[in-house]
Amino acid sequence: MPVLKTDTTEQPAPTLTTPSCIIAGCGRPQAVAWKKGLCASCHAKANKLVKSKQTTWEELAQRGLAIIASEDMSDPFTKAYNEKKV
Ligand SMILES: [Zn+2]
Repeated sequence: MPVLKTDTTEQPAPTLTTPSCIIAGCGRPQAVAWKKGLCASCHAKANKLVKSKQTTWEELAQRGLAIIASEDMSDPFTKAYNEKKV
C-alpha cells in the first residue's frame, strides 16, 4: 500500500463543534457529511479499500476504524451492500 502524504487535502480549521477523526494520530476534523467518524483523507483511503473489496465499512467499524451511523444502516443500498460482502 502506497504511503500517502498527510497534507495533500486542504482541511478547514477544527472548531469546537467538529470532532476529530477517530483514527489515532490523525487529529484532523471529521468530515461529518459521510458520518463515518473519519476526516476527508482517512475516509478517502478507507473508501478505496471498501470499493476494492479489501474490507467493508462494517469490518472497519468492528476494528474501530470507522463508525457506521444509523442513518447509513437504514439506507437500502448501504444495507444491501454490507450484506453482500465478500
Ligand atoms: Zn483522519
